[in-house]
Amino acid sequence: MRAGHWKDVRSEDWQSLQWQLRNLIRTPRRLAELLELPAGEAAAVQQLEKQFRFAISPYYFSLIDCADPGDPIRRMIVPSSLESSGGGSHDPLSEKDDRVAPGLTHRYPDRVLFVVTSFCSSYCRFCIRKRNWKTSDAASTRAEIDQAVAYLRAHEEVRDVLLSGGDPLTLPLDQLDYILAQIRSVKHVEFVRIGSREPVMLPMRITDDLLRVLDRNGSPWINTHFNHPREITEEAAKACEKLARTGIPLNNQTVLLAGVNDDIATMKDLVRRLLGIRVRPYYLYHCDPVIGASHFRTSVWKGVEIIEALRGHTTGLAVPTFVVDAPGGAGKIPLTPNYLVSAAPGRVVLRNFEGVILGYSDQDSVAPSAASHSVTDVAQSGGQPLIPLGQPHYERRNERKP
Ligand code: SF4
Repeated sequence: MRAGHWKDVRSEDWQSLQWQLRNLIRTPRRLAELLELPAGEAAAVQQLEKQFRFAISPYYFSLIDCADPGDPIRRMIVPSSLESSGGGSHDPLSEKDDRVAPGLTHRYPDRVLFVVTSFCSSYCRFCIRKRNWKTSDAASTRAEIDQAVAYLRAHEEVRDVLLSGGDPLTLPLDQLDYILAQIRSVKHVEFVRIGSREPVMLPMRITDDLLRVLDRNGSPWINTHFNHPREITEEAAKACEKLARTGIPLNNQTVLLAGVNDDIATMKDLVRRLLGIRVRPYYLYHCDPVIGASHFRTSVWKGVEIIEALRGHTTGLAVPTFVVDAPGGAGKIPLTPNYLVSAAPGRVVLRNFEGVILGYSDQDSVAPSAASHSVTDVAQSGGQPLIPLGQPHYERRNERKP
């Protein structure tokens, strides 16, 4: 897939990682050559460049529909004056508060986040680690990596290490190899995950050399980061296939972004296509309050509404867990539509994916069908509440009715 700007580039060059990196779009001037910017936007981009990093791979840029100012890919990657509208913090998840060694955040009981670079081949406008774009707190030297690994060795409760960044798959291969080998040498670490958007924004990165490094280090799990169905191109699918063939389990994390994927049809298309390339939708994140990203934030209810529209309406494997990462480092909180309406001794009242409300015996003693309420009941109840069954005082009231 290539837009007109690069139609004359030889296919070998286009598919080459080195060519893509040599031709990164990284100046407002180059951006203005490729994209018509509305009045005032060019100046805004110049200003934003001083505040936030900016780079786009030609491959990822080619996914933009340049004729559409509201194009979702464009919204995710091209700087916008909306980023100056205020709000948000540099470290919305307070990762630095739980920093225990260079790049290492230890928040959950048995797992750690290990930030190993601040570099990405393209920079997302909604990134939660913009703080690293100015002053990196990643473990980037051997001494820093060794210090972090020493912490892992000393903490036997840690069994899961998530490498993140920046994008760990942009690291020089000898450095990635070193980090993975060091972590694997810690006996109690059972598995390693890598968070990467390279399969999405620069699938040419998934080279045979990279696969060899991953393979000899036990094929760590990879969390991809597809946000929109149009990111699932032939190239991205091929990259994921290569990873899967190397024995790497692939899960996807999506961020819920206003104007990008905050509608049911887009999200349904995304999760179905992800399964089509053997990537399991894992998390749907509510967009965190990071600086420069307030225009991407939706209501929390939007995420719940999307899950409601997926659960039962498409394959269960395609339904991610919707989570809000709580401020102050309180961790991920899963939010789901409420399917358990109420509970009473021996009985619960449930709601199915179609909105049908029904009683369900908890003890095999009562037939569930006898207890069902449906949306029709609600509509016909004349505004009266649907009373959970098994509540003695309501049953007594009913008996007293004439
Ligand atoms: S690839 Fe990940 S780390 Fe890099 S800018 Fe995008 S969201 Fe941030």
